[in-house]
Amino acid sequence: MKLQMVGTGSISASERSACCLINEHILVDCGNGIVKTLQQQNVDVYSIDILLITHNHGDHMLDVPFLILIRSFIQVKNELKIYCPRGFKKVIYDLVNLVYNDIINEWDSMVEKARVTFAEFEELNVEDNYLIKSVLVDHGETKPCYGYMVSKDGKTIGISGDSTLCEGVEKLIQESDVSVLDCSFLSTGKSHMGLDTIVKLAQKYHKNIIPTHMNTEVREEALSLDLEELRVLSDGMFIEI
Ligand SMILES: [Zn+2]
Repeated sequence: MKLQMVGTGSISASERSACCLINEHILVDCGNGIVKTLQQQNVDVYSIDILLITHNHGDHMLDVPFLILIRSFIQVKNELKIYCPRGFKKVIYDLVNLVYNDIINEWDSMVEKARVTFAEFEELNVEDNYLIKSVLVDHGETKPCYGYMVSKDGKTIGISGDSTLCEGVEKLIQESDVSVLDCSFLSTGKSHMGLDTIVKLAQKYHKNIIPTHMNTEVREEALSLDLEELRVLSDGMFIEI
C-alpha cells in the first residue's frame, strides 16, 4: 500500500492540515485547503472513492463542501463514499448554508450529481475493497472522534485522528504495520498526544510511527531525535507498506 502524507501540520504550522491518502483512493480527513493541496501534489482528486472523517473540527473537514462542489461540476466516473460520524451530513449542509447560501436549495441535487453518499456510523467494520475499521479515540470534549485502520493484502495502516493517549490508540498501533499518530505538542495533554508519548509508544511497540498534526517546534524536536521507529515526513512525502 502507498501512504501519502498530504498534510502533516497543526493549525499554527505552515504545513497543511493533517491528512493522508492511501493508494490514491482513500482520503483520511479533508480539512482547510486540502483539495488545492491534493492538486498541487498531482493527485487526481476525482479518483478518490472513499473519504474517512475522523471528527468535525475544521482542520479535518472544512474542505468537504469543495470536494463535493468540484465533483458536481463534471461528469464523475466513480462514486465517493464518505464514512463519517453520525450527524456529519447535516454539519456539511449547515456549513454550505452558511458560506454558499445561494446554492443551498440545489445542494441535495449537487451531492447526488457529484455521486457522493454519506455513510454515518457509530462503529465501522466494513469490507469495501479494503477492510476498514474504526477505533474510538479520546479527543477531550470533542465526541465522537475516530481513528481508522485500513487493511489490504495483509498490511494495515492505522490513523489516530486527533487523540490523547487512550486504549483506542494502543489498539490501533498493535494492529497496524504503520501508525500515523497525532503529535500536536511536546507534552501530551487532555485532547492531543505529545512527542513525549509518541517516543514512548515507538520504543514500546517497535513499530513504524509517523507523527502528524505537528507545529514547527514539535517537528524540529522530532527530527533531532533520530529514532529508527519514528518516521518524520513532510507534506507530499509517501512510503510504501
Ligand atoms: Zn481536532
